Amino acid sequence: MNPTRICIAGVAGRMGQCLLALTLKDPELKLVEALERRGHKWVGHHLSEVAGVEKGLGVVVDSDLHHESTAQVFIDFTEPVTASFHAKVCADLKIPIIIGTTGVVGDEKDRIARAAEHIPVIHAPNFSVGVNVLFKLVEQAAEALGDSYDVEIVEAHHNQKEDAPSGTALRLYQSVLKGFEPNAGYTAVHGRSSFNRGVRTKKEIGIHAIRMADVVGEHTVYFAIGGERIELTHKASSRDTFARGALRAAKWIVGKDPGMYTMAQVLGLE
Ligand code: NAD
Repeated sequence: MNPTRICIAGVAGRMGQCLLALTLKDPELKLVEALERRGHKWVGHHLSEVAGVEKGLGVVVDSDLHHESTAQVFIDFTEPVTASFHAKVCADLKIPIIIGTTGVVGDEKDRIARAAEHIPVIHAPNFSVGVNVLFKLVEQAAEALGDSYDVEIVEAHHNQKEDAPSGTALRLYQSVLKGFEPNAGYTAVHGRSSFNRGVRTKKEIGIHAIRMADVVGEHTVYFAIGGERIELTHKASSRDTFARGALRAAKWIVGKDPGMYTMAQVLGLE
């Protein structure tokens, strides 16, 4: 079988470099394009010069996707405005897109949803297999324990992360709501900074973000009631876990109909 031809956007970034390294080791994948932001020092250079990869690869880093692109899948780990712009370009060129970029809101989200009317799209806050299993476990725990339990979500990431709380923490909040009664009026309380805000109510689910050093990504969901506490935790120790999941999704998405797909579908969890 021919390898799946991919384009990586944000190739010089932390995730981009992991994606690049794993792609080059995978005989089922072939890198045909690599993008960086306009003005980035890698643009215009062969990946072999700037990323230390083998000379034969022949990919020159560009800032825009070619209209005659041969990529079968586009992978975006960049930043929110760029991710939504890439979704539009991919929709125009009919190239499926995998988006890992988090912190996407408002118009950017709408643009991605509109792209999914023309191409298959996966926009996941976390591509790790373990975290996607955690989403399911949290939903099951919430359903089994019921809403008499206090639920708090705590996430930790490296000190360069720009969005907070993490997209994964927000997705875990959705898992809790799914397991409880989704329309029962719960609210997410982000941190508890205000003075004299009063005691915690039964309808709030706390979400808290910690930023320090080189933490790759940690998420814990607490379910607590007088006398006991359950803690469901996932810890990522290498970005390879996200990159492996994104590349698995890239292989899966080729040939799918237009629409928004989930990582749970890629993994057969739903
Ligand atoms: P990073 O800052 O190290 O890398 C982002 C890269 O995108 C940079 O090299 C930047 O120059 C490039 N970029 C910016 N604008 C661009 C443009 N117009 N065209 C091409 N490239 C452009 O960040 P990172 O740690 O690699 O994370 C990137 C995103 O992925 C963040 O939103 C992060 O939260 C998210 N992330 C998601 C997952 C997941 O599993 N979904 C895992 C880790 C990180």
